[in-house]
Amino acid sequence: MNAAAQFVSVSQRFGDFTAVDDIDLSIPAGKLTTLLGPSGCGKTTSLRMLAGYTRPTAGRILIDGVDATTTPPEKRGLGMVFQSYALFPHMTVAENVGYGLKLRGTSKDERRTRVMESLELVGLAHLASRKPRALSGGQQQRVALARAIAIRPKLLLLDEPLSNLDARLRVQMRTEIRRIQHETGLTVVLVTHDQDEALEMSDEMVLMREGRIMQQGAPADVFGAPADRFVADFLGYENFVRTASGLVTVRPEHLVVETGSSERQHALALPGTVTDVAYRGVDLLITIAAHDESGPITLLSDMRADGAPRVAVGDAVTAGAARAHIVELSE
Ligand code: ATP
Repeated sequence: MNAAAQFVSVSQRFGDFTAVDDIDLSIPAGKLTTLLGPSGCGKTTSLRMLAGYTRPTAGRILIDGVDATTTPPEKRGLGMVFQSYALFPHMTVAENVGYGLKLRGTSKDERRTRVMESLELVGLAHLASRKPRALSGGQQQRVALARAIAIRPKLLLLDEPLSNLDARLRVQMRTEIRRIQHETGLTVVLVTHDQDEALEMSDEMVLMREGRIMQQGAPADVFGAPADRFVADFLGYENFVRTASGLVTVRPEHLVVETGSSERQHALALPGTVTDVAYRGVDLLITIAAHDESGPITLLSDMRADGAPRVAVGDAVTAGAARAHIVELSE
């Protein structure tokens, strides 16, 4: 793998508190990597160390293979977009986008070309002479992106850039950022606590917990084989069951419900009693109290499928899963 940046045994302590605990991480060039994890796990601190705003208390940070641990932020050649992407209100869109280039002493002609290139990339060339206040939130976010891209950064760092947008726009912008990343071939590092965002957007996903990396890989690999209960929980697995061989989990959509008359053999079979049936449009969300100590089991039953079960609260049923859908976990 060609690494655009590397963390080598990096730690960050604030007094007695260890926010980032001895991480080793390679950021693949030309790919989109997400740092994912619950609040406080060290995502932003890691990104700030990469950007140069915080110096690691131990370890080294390499950019393009060169030790950049003590390089100041403005010399790292990085573009950043934060959650609050404050644009300069008195400048036009084009002036905002060209600001970083002006600081770097780029000539006026070159600046004009790059500003228009960047604005075209985010689909806002027609608004170049507007002021930020005359733009929607989503458009302002695109301007912030264009501003970060205009300097042709070695790395584009995005810290929860979509969290201030409404739900629909947020989903649109995920696709937009992917498209821009593909078109430019930029190396992007995105911080998010939203697993759907990470699954949808990442080439590489890095799951963090309490300052450590718990698992790293392509979304399908991590999702298909979560390393432990924490990762599985975080990615939305719900049913945790103790079997003779250890702890396993099965996603709600991978369990089928069997009533007395229809019982087939399953690799995992959990007898129980239905405690809730919720209608959700295309599927039913069925909750079952297992007869063993497994706790509530939830399963989604697709109502479009032939032979969708008819179950009611109080029915004795068995929740079953095929071998291929049983994910074994370490704790
Ligand atoms: P969030 O999603 O909430 O932004 P995060 O994963 O980005 O969380 P960080 O911002 O990296 O988390 O913070 C990691 C831990 O370090 C937190 O417990 C935070 O309180 C602590 N922390 C961060 N910056 C400082 C600081 N300057 N001084 C002391 N503690 C800090």
